[in-house]
Amino acid sequence: MEGPGTTAEKARGLVIVFTGSGKGKTTAALGIALRACGHALRTLVIQFIKGSWLAGELEAAKQLAPNLEIIATGKGFVGIRGDDLPFSEHQKAAQEALALARNKAGTGAYDILVLDEIDNALRLGLVSLEDVLAFLRSRPVAMHVILTGRDAPPELVAAADLVTEMLDVKHPFDEGQVARRGIDF
Ligand code: ATP
Ligand code: MG
Repeated sequence: MEGPGTTAEKARGLVIVFTGSGKGKTTAALGIALRACGHALRTLVIQFIKGSWLAGELEAAKQLAPNLEIIATGKGFVGIRGDDLPFSEHQKAAQEALALARNKAGTGAYDILVLDEIDNALRLGLVSLEDVLAFLRSRPVAMHVILTGRDAPPELVAAADLVTEMLDVKHPFDEGQVARRGIDF
């Protein structure tokens, strides 16, 4: 029997979920990616929903290439903040992001795959839970997958090995403060 710490157990990739209302979900995923870079492991981040990222991590990824790669696939906010795209466009973008995840995972080139904001894509009905769970089951066995976003569905929590819920205790946005360079983007 293989137990924890045996070779087989170490070789099995983890499913990690960072969820909850507090800040730090994407940050935590990027923190793991940074740590993994130090071991020459390769991480791919596929960003759901958010569009072209002005975020600092995009520049940082260039410096850490090829061990860190970030692809933003989304069409921006869905149904809020001046979103005038039809829902079907957002749905198409999210479906394509999941297809991209399948293709990229299938190459076997990545040790860690981050599906950033996918919980929000699930909640909005842009991708189906069945498709996401099927992806997790069919992925290369050694590849870790990190899924982020508020409101991870219970079925995803059940399927995960590691789940952390960020709790919103306070956030400067509550006081009307603006997003800070290097902290929020
Ligand atoms: P980050 O990318 O900063 O780790 P996150 O992934 O936990 O944040 P998201 O829901 O993806 O959270 O939101 C991204 C943006 O919203 C960030 O600018 C973040 O600071 C801000 N944010 C996150 N949590 C809160 C909160 N509880 N109240 C207000 N703003 C928040
Ligand atoms: Mg996030």
